[in-house]
Amino acid sequence: MGASEFDNVGFGSLTFNRSAMKKYLSNETFQAWNDCVQNRKVLSSQTASEIASGMKDWALEHGATHYSHWFQPLTGVTAEKHEGFMIPSEDDGFKLEFTSRELIKGEPDASSFPSGGLRSTFEARGYSAWDPTSYAFIKDRTLYIPTVFFAYSGEALDKKTPLLRSCDALNRQALRVLRLLGDSETRSVTANVGAEQEYFLIRKELFNRRVDLKLCGRTILGAPSPKGQELDDHYYGAIKPEVSKFMKDVNRALWKLGICSKTEHNEVAPGQFEMAPFFTTANRANDQNQLTMEIMKRVADDHNLVCILNEKPFAGTNGSGKHVNWSLSTDRGENLFSPGSSPSSNRRFLVMLAAFLKGVDEYSELLRCSTAYAGNDLRLGGLEAPPAIISVFTGMYLENLIDSIINDSNFENASGSLMEAGKAVGLSIPKDLTDRNRTSAIAYTGNKFEFRMPGASQSIASPVTYLNTIMAQQLKEIADSLEGSGNLDQDLDKLIRKILKEHRRIVFNGNGYTDSWLQEAKKRGLKNLKNTAMTLPEYMSEKNVELLTSNGIYSVSEMEGRNEVHMQKYCSLILIEARTMVKMLCDIFSSVALYSAKISPARSMVLNDAILDKIQKTSSVLMKDEEKLEALIEKASSFTDNSSLMVFCSEEIIPQLEKCRESADRLEGLTHPDYWPFPGYTELLFSF
Ligand code: ADP
Ligand code: MG
Repeated sequence: MGASEFDNVGFGSLTFNRSAMKKYLSNETFQAWNDCVQNRKVLSSQTASEIASGMKDWALEHGATHYSHWFQPLTGVTAEKHEGFMIPSEDDGFKLEFTSRELIKGEPDASSFPSGGLRSTFEARGYSAWDPTSYAFIKDRTLYIPTVFFAYSGEALDKKTPLLRSCDALNRQALRVLRLLGDSETRSVTANVGAEQEYFLIRKELFNRRVDLKLCGRTILGAPSPKGQELDDHYYGAIKPEVSKFMKDVNRALWKLGICSKTEHNEVAPGQFEMAPFFTTANRANDQNQLTMEIMKRVADDHNLVCILNEKPFAGTNGSGKHVNWSLSTDRGENLFSPGSSPSSNRRFLVMLAAFLKGVDEYSELLRCSTAYAGNDLRLGGLEAPPAIISVFTGMYLENLIDSIINDSNFENASGSLMEAGKAVGLSIPKDLTDRNRTSAIAYTGNKFEFRMPGASQSIASPVTYLNTIMAQQLKEIADSLEGSGNLDQDLDKLIRKILKEHRRIVFNGNGYTDSWLQEAKKRGLKNLKNTAMTLPEYMSEKNVELLTSNGIYSVSEMEGRNEVHMQKYCSLILIEARTMVKMLCDIFSSVALYSAKISPARSMVLNDAILDKIQKTSSVLMKDEEKLEALIEKASSFTDNSSLMVFCSEEIIPQLEKCRESADRLEGLTHPDYWPFPGYTELLFSF
């Protein structure tokens, strides 16, 4: 037998996973940890000490010299602060120390992380606390400990805490409904997530010559390439050797961290690719996605490439999303969104389906909020992504099933056999329930929902937190209304029918990219929150505050803090783009002047005359637009509140940026490439 590529993969070898724990912990300690994770039992301090000691031995044997609490502040990326294991010993030597104290709690000086006013700089205490439900791992000779991050007042300052709270709320409410359905054995319900990650690769040498890519993560100007993605010859095309080497190295790094990268392929735009991991629990999937983004960037760097995660790095070609596949499973391995074949499972499926549709319909603005930020504004409703309207694609089978329940009529499955729906009894739903739909915000894909709105660069924590919470809320309402019912099956069927009837409007199985859908959605009363400035004001709506506080996800002040952070981040990004535009235009003016000087001695030539004339005209328009942009940047500094600055950025600065871009791109077409200060779209997009 020859050697397999997988022989030395060392899957999960850099994580303190179950098998490492079994080796480094006593059986008793391992069981206590397991109980904590599975059954949410609190760990004793004795157990924590033993875990710290085992973790330390494991980390040292794997070459770690430092450890770090690893947390997810509201920046959307991760943060870390390394501490050495080494401390001086009495005999002038050193010893290596790592106890439960270091494992459990850290206190990074966190005054500069965004908190939206939850914590002022003079009261800068921030704490990190170990999350035992996600594995510690080793990277760069450092032991990373996944942690939550919170203020002295106890308020969450991160994205992991609300996610964990939402997993708990969902578990609690789902169990209530399962009990009502006669399930006395399931002990926990978990949200599972698989996040497909899209990205672009470009050569580092080109990246370094584009100040916009460096500072904004995307090109804010650039004339279109004569060839874009219209031939669809990149999508699923043969992966070029250079890219393949990159992917191989990414896979190897991810596998060692226990991340099962599963699918990889060329995406639609030239230079665009995708990786999808095998799904796991929501909390781990969130940690893993953060690590994946980091590893992709780092490996790209080793290959003299740059991995771009921005949602829309290049105008006119597809942007990058991050489809969040989400499902619910029990500790017994059952998927609650599987239609199943036995009558009781079908009833369970219908309750879950109804709850989900109602949740999405009632809280569509909140889901939209979780994907609202400057980068994603350019992607949603573009060439590649769902419109900003939230709807659910169920596929025709489910749509027919839903309609038959609403109308109390017969349901005909694919093979033509009749099913009596409405009573949710005896349904045998065909296996291939749905065709693929790429145009809806949310699509049912057989046993899970795919939330297609999140953008490539963002943390998946908030989208998943909200999916969990709206589901928890609906299950709570269902349990509240049915607990104590004298005729449960009948009441349940009635409730399912009522819910489906009231929320039928959220189901849409047509093409979401068409104008007719925009009209239809409007008729149905579905909101089209086109951009961040339109969306974020919905965040603090009464119903959202009620939903998130009553389910224990946030306190009101935590929400207020987050709201400020989101608005502030949006404004900062737009203003960075504006200042970068000014800088680039300055470079463009001097380059164009040089080029004009070069061709003007030959002014008598008709052609040069014509070119110079056009350059002059375009430049003078651009100069005026640039001055206007500078004036707007100046004006922005006079705003004192984020919400009006956000509107100003959206309504004044962005249109002005677009105006500048239009003339700049025209000038690019008029100027000889040798004189243009930045590499153009053809070079950037067709590097491979
Ligand atoms: P598609 O190609 O239709 O998008 P895939 O089967 O390739 O679907 O899955 C895409 C992503 O969905 C992967 O990350 C995968 O692990 C994840 N996924 C599959 N099943 C589930 C599930 N039950 N719950 C959550 N995620 C899932
Ligand atoms: Mg998908």
